Formats: sequence, structure tokens, C-alpha cells
Amino acid sequence: MAPAAVPQQSNILHRVLADKPHHAVSSSGINIHLANLHNVIDAAGGASVAVLGHTQPSVIEALTKQMTDISYVYSGAGYSSNSAEELASLILSEKPGGLCKAIFVCSGSEAMECALKLARQYHCERGDMKRIHYISRKNSYHGNTLGALGVSGHPGRRAIYEDMLSKNVSFVEPCYVYRGKKEGEDDKAYLERLTAGIEEEFQRVGADKVAAFVAETVSGASLGCATAVSGYFKAVREVCNKYGALMILDEVMCGMGKTGTLHAWQQEGITGPDIQTVAKALGGGFVPIGGVLMNQKVVDALASGTGILQHGHTYQAHPGACAAAAEVQKIIKRDNLMQNVMEQGKLLEKLLKETVLPLKIVGDVRGRGLYWGVELVSDKETKRPFDRGMAVSSKVGASAMALGLGVLPTPGAGSEAPVDILIVSPPYVVTEQDVRSIVGILKAAIEDITRTLED
Ligand code: PLP
Repeated sequence: MAPAAVPQQSNILHRVLADKPHHAVSSSGINIHLANLHNVIDAAGGASVAVLGHTQPSVIEALTKQMTDISYVYSGAGYSSNSAEELASLILSEKPGGLCKAIFVCSGSEAMECALKLARQYHCERGDMKRIHYISRKNSYHGNTLGALGVSGHPGRRAIYEDMLSKNVSFVEPCYVYRGKKEGEDDKAYLERLTAGIEEEFQRVGADKVAAFVAETVSGASLGCATAVSGYFKAVREVCNKYGALMILDEVMCGMGKTGTLHAWQQEGITGPDIQTVAKALGGGFVPIGGVLMNQKVVDALASGTGILQHGHTYQAHPGACAAAAEVQKIIKRDNLMQNVMEQGKLLEKLLKETVLPLKIVGDVRGRGLYWGVELVSDKETKRPFDRGMAVSSKVGASAMALGLGVLPTPGAGSEAPVDILIVSPPYVVTEQDVRSIVGILKAAIEDITRTLED
């Protein structure tokens, strides 16, 4: 087969303007085929999105059927559709953690905007107008729109927008064992220190002003799949309950099955958040979709107040998007994919720890299920990161790409801790052979870049 024709000049403004994009033309299973005939194993599902891989005929069928039946209705005008109702009941019929209603939007950032406003409205409906402050965590990432970026504690991403972002947000230390835990400190002492920090922040801003505490259950693009120490979210829940603030968990990246349970918080020993955001794995990349899930407490406040949600988007609960996402969720259930996430996740963890962690520039490997972060360091002993601007993770990403593997590099340039992380979050349908190939190529790519650093 001859390489596919690629336009000489792209009229799309790509993220790195000088880079030539990888021009994707087709796919099969978890592989992306490029115009130059290069084949790439999509081991991060793009940005942790394509959790069923790239070819699922029944998703296309469900989408086509819905688009044939009714392609668009405006939820703001009071419409709903079979697919939106089906998607909501697939996720919420068992009321996980008390979550009972959903709002479907088009992305993770939109979901976060909606969640933040919903928390504010919750308090206002109860006559509590003072609660305008959000407590989030340093080095976090919750989206790129101004509201979502406002609660993102990632200095690099905030930098040029700082003056445009809300001043009613403050940031506490994240739970980040690899760098946050002090020498000799055990998990219990670390947890106590973090909890005391949250408690102090509530006191500092005035506990009666806090609308919500915002956190990712497992930190994704910010801290590379950093899991919390046991008891952390239980402690967060207790502080929120004590002061009447809502707990918002951002599961845009870590949610809908990545960690081996549909919701990452289900492994944290809590009943559930008040508000949760989801996206990425919700639609598996077949359609742009995000969601906000909430518990009865939030619904009751709205119902007993104005009864009107003060937020909305034109494409909210888009029938086509909901139909495709509903099919994705049905496949995850039908094929018992959480079992595969757990099983292949164990193998991925074992292989990463056995073969990648010992490498000279790998400082840490952490994660859960099929959601893993590999942190690169210039000195393993001292955990010294690579100098800002070296973008070693991007270089490893490029080397992996050349070897036929797509991972997600997150060079933390500009962040407080300029960490270099590679995210490996392969689709839920991976086989043992896929996992072995992924780790083998990743190892080769890291070794390749290590050699160039030594030259
Ligand atoms: N929240 C988290 C935790 C994310 O990782 C992301 C994106 O990576 C977002 C929010 C924003 O989602 P989107 O890019 O779909 O707007």
C-alpha cells in the first residue's frame, strides 16, 4: 500500500506550531495507522481517552441509529432523548455513592465549569451567599477554560492568564507520595500533615466562605497518576462535612474505569463525593462528551430553591454523543472490562516495576489499574528533576513514537515541581501480549534517550 496523501500545508494551528503533526488515517483495535504507513500502539488512548481502542462497530451503529432517529434537541428548551436517559441510567441506576443525577456536556473543562457553578448554586439556593471560595491543590489540573483553570494549581498552565483567574481560590499541598512525603515520615504522619494543611486552609479563608474542596481522585496530567495514601479522601470528606463545604472529585481523567473500578473514589473508602466530573472514558473518544454527577443533597437544594439549573450549554446532552457513550458503557459492562483492567493492570504494574523502574532516569512508577505514571529524574538518589526546558519526557515520547508506541508525556515545564512524567493508560481491551509490547517499547525508548543524555 502506498502512503496516503497528506496536505503540504496545514491550516490547523497545531499545539507546537513548528511540529509536523502525525497524520492519522485509519485504525484497527488499539493501533493508529499514520499516513506514512507507520503503525502506533495507542498505549495512552490519546490523552487517556480511547479506552476501547479505535474500532468498535456497535458504537458507530448506535451513533448512526440515534442520528437517524433524532440528531439534536436543545435541553435548555426542555427536551430529552432516549440516549441521554439511557446513558444516565447506565451510570446512575445503582446510585453509586448516592450519585443520582447527571448533566452531560461536551468536555472535561465544561464539566468542571458546571461543577464549580453547581456548588455555588447549591449554597445560594440554601440562602448561603457567602460561600464563594474554592480550595484546590497545588500543581493540579482541572481544565483549560478560565473557571477550570482558576482551580488548577499548575503554575505553568496558569502563568499568562494569572490576572484573569478567580482570586477566590487557594491551594493546599497535593497528596504526592514520591515528592511530598518527608524523609522518614510514614503514611499516617503524612496523612495527618496533609489533613492539618486542609483544616488550616479552611480556617485561614474562613470555613463559612468555602463552597467546595476540589481534587482529582488520582492525579492525572498534573502529577502523573499519583495515588493518595490510604485515608486521605476520608479525611477530606470529614473536613468538608464539618464545615458544610461540598466535595468535588474530578474524575475526568482517572474515572469511568481506568483504575479498575468505574469510579476511582470507590477504592478510597468513602461513600462518594457530592459532585463528580467525568469525561474522556465516558465516550471513549468516539464522541466529545463529559458529565457532571451529583448526589441527592445537591438535587434537593436546587429543587427546594429556584428549581432552575443556572448553567447550560447549547450541545448539552447531545443525543448522538449520549448514544455513542451509552454503547461504550454497555460494552464495558457486557465484556466485564473492569476485570481485564484489574488483570492486565497487575501485569502492567509488575512489568513497569521490574523493567522500567530500575532504569537510570526513572525515579518512580505509580498508578492503579491501567492508569500508570512513570516519573523521570536526572538523579534517582536525590530525586532531582531534569532542568526545566529539557522536556525529557517529550523526547522519550518522540522516541517511543518512532518505535511505534504512543504514550502521553507531560513535561511539567513551568510548574513548581518541574516533573517529567509519561502516562501509560492503555485501552481496557489490551491483551497480555499488548502489555508486554508496550512495556518493552517504552523501556527501549527510555534507554534510547538516556544514551543521548549521556553523549
Ligand atoms: N480535568 C482533568 C483531571 C483533566 O485531566 C482534564 C484534561 O486532561 C480536564 C479536566 C479537562 O478536560 P478537557 O480537556 O476535556 O476539557
